[in-house]
Amino acid sequence: MLNLSPPRWVARLVPGITWHIPNCANEVYLTFDDGPTAAVTPWVLAELSARGVKATFFCLGRNAERYPDIMAQIRAGGHAVGNHTYSHLKGFATPTADYYHDAALANTFLHASLFRPPYGRITVDQMRMLSARYRVVLWSLLSMDYSRHVTPARCLQFVTRHVQSGDVIVFHDSLKAERNLRYALPRALDWMLANGYSFATLAEAAPVGILTPALLHP
Ligand SMILES: [Zn+2]
Repeated sequence: MLNLSPPRWVARLVPGITWHIPNCANEVYLTFDDGPTAAVTPWVLAELSARGVKATFFCLGRNAERYPDIMAQIRAGGHAVGNHTYSHLKGFATPTADYYHDAALANTFLHASLFRPPYGRITVDQMRMLSARYRVVLWSLLSMDYSRHVTPARCLQFVTRHVQSGDVIVFHDSLKAERNLRYALPRALDWMLANGYSFATLAEAAPVGILTPALLHP
């Protein structure tokens, strides 16, 4: 059985992390990690644009530095940008000060108020330090697009079988995920749109606890 979301006991240990954003409107939150990449991100933007869908891109600072034009395309499309560190650090393996400085370096290119730790792994000290500066967002549904053990059809099924209103869904606009993403993303988008789901960025959605229908749907 593949683990599709972070364990719930983590949520109890580390309050203040956004995992999902409950709502009664079938609104979900697409996120794309590890980009931008020249091979994949412009294609993702075109697929989203063709359907009028907005998403959140948790970018690596090193990639944003390399591809400023793609960053501009992301912002011009009305999407939100989040910080995913400069160099895709593992929180558990990195001293807290180094981790914070890597995220700060990334933010000189990203100018983000959202943060997602690579691998979803972050120590309590790192969480405390980062949550003073960023809204930390994990996820409630993984597409598993990055896994070479997952077929494109299975990747699509992870989304269509498990998606619920309020889910924060993870894809990757990376080379590693490209094969699964190119199959699953357009089909998942079409399936969700046909089944009444709508999409918003995490910049538009209020954190859990102060969420109201009026805030989500003015
Ligand atoms: Zn990542």
